[in-house]
Amino acid sequence: MTSEQPETKKRSRRRRSRKKRSDSPVVDAQNQSEPEVQAKPKRKGIAPNAEVFDLDLTFKAMGLNDEILKAIDHLGYEHPTKIQAELIPMALTGRDVLGQSKTGTGKTAAFCLPVLQMTDESEPFSTLILVPTRELAIQVTREMQILSKFTKLISLAVYGGQSTRIQAEKLKQNPQIIIGTPGRVMDMHSRGLLPYDKMKVAILDEVDRMLDIGFRDDIRRILGVMKQDHQTIFVSATISEDIERLARQFMTDPQRLNISSSKSLTVEQVNQKHFTVQPWDKNYLLLHLLKHEDPTLTLVFCRTKQTCDGLTRYLQRKGIDAHALHADLHQGKRNQVMHKLREGTLSVLVASDLAARGLDVDDITHVINYDLPEDPDVYVHRIGRTARAGRDGIAWAFVTPEQGALLTAIEMLTNVEIPIAEYQDFKPGPVPADIQMREAQKVEREKSLQTRFNSRDKPPSETQALDLTKFPGGVVPICKPSKKMGGRVPRRR
Ligand code: AMP
Repeated sequence: MTSEQPETKKRSRRRRSRKKRSDSPVVDAQNQSEPEVQAKPKRKGIAPNAEVFDLDLTFKAMGLNDEILKAIDHLGYEHPTKIQAELIPMALTGRDVLGQSKTGTGKTAAFCLPVLQMTDESEPFSTLILVPTRELAIQVTREMQILSKFTKLISLAVYGGQSTRIQAEKLKQNPQIIIGTPGRVMDMHSRGLLPYDKMKVAILDEVDRMLDIGFRDDIRRILGVMKQDHQTIFVSATISEDIERLARQFMTDPQRLNISSSKSLTVEQVNQKHFTVQPWDKNYLLLHLLKHEDPTLTLVFCRTKQTCDGLTRYLQRKGIDAHALHADLHQGKRNQVMHKLREGTLSVLVASDLAARGLDVDDITHVINYDLPEDPDVYVHRIGRTARAGRDGIAWAFVTPEQGALLTAIEMLTNVEIPIAEYQDFKPGPVPADIQMREAQKVEREKSLQTRFNSRDKPPSETQALDLTKFPGGVVPICKPSKKMGGRVPRRR
């Protein structure tokens, strides 16, 4: 299921009537059902490090206007991060940019700041920022609004799962900057509420994710309609051949940007380890780690929504303050969880990949891959939720005995060795009875097949080896079954 889910009208109406109006000059990103936008507190105690930040540069030296500098100062940003130091001046020249950057390195501000600098109040619908999920749409709009706090520019989030009526009303206020998911953006465009013909800048954030989710055709449709002269910027953690193809189609001589001081795809501040664990021991290992390591804020990734729910219930039963976040939860519940997360009143979030996209919460100390992702790219995005903006973080992966090859694929992609964590205190549990029984049945089946095979008149030729992956028991039939065994289907006339 995608993140674009409908919400019951009744519930959203009730919530809207309860919500107070923000007196901020900007339109609320959350379209009335999300908590109000609040400035992030000033960053304290993070020593800017040279891997993420450009310590020789200041925002003032980049020629940003006073209103923007004031907002940056309120946020407590001292130096631009490396992607900001490179992308901001590049974007300000008006050239197309194809940028690769690790997650958590300040890429949102890197494209928001030049947009704010280049946008005039009198230019409605001049910037379109496309993102893969509604969470990211809210997140980017939040950041844009904070950075434009001292300007009169209006940013609006347009995404599925929210009342189109409310969003339509807000579009009538002529916002200059639209941040949205492709489906809802196209919907609003087809209703004549979101014109593309005045767009001066089109930005695609997390392009790799958008292609994974299946937005390729929507992106083509949207960018294909923008015939006027405009600037296009792509930002992505990984640049695949698919992205290159899109760039060739929709960009003019793009400037390439690859911000990575090291060859790895993940930031050095993340301490990565893996645990070898049997599937039936995962719950207990997680509980053990949470109790013994006492992390501040942990994000646990599961592959399915059912696992998210089951694991959350298990942790709650064991006295852990755990909450689930996945696409099947209604928007109200998701907002509630996100609110708790931002307030810092939640300690363990058990999430699916889609729901956790774009989670920008500063204090996630641990990311745990309860289920290893099938796609190694996803691992990069997951662990990018910790060690943000130069902080330290821990990423653990649970690897079952059959998943060795997957772990190697992840190590090859990230170009980082993920060492095994020796956890002396943890005692693996006994093999559960049902699994023991299944194993015993399997051995029994193989034995009986072997016996039947051995007792047959015609043994296989010497060269015919048993291939256990092919046929039950590895015996590949060499002739038709006999009539007695049902080789001929009897027919009645
Ligand atoms: P992003 O990669 O855009 O998701 O940003 C990751 C985190 O870095 C967010 O919490 C931002 O608020 C923070 N951040 C972005 N730019 C800076 C900066 N120049 N100084 C300190 N923190 C920053």
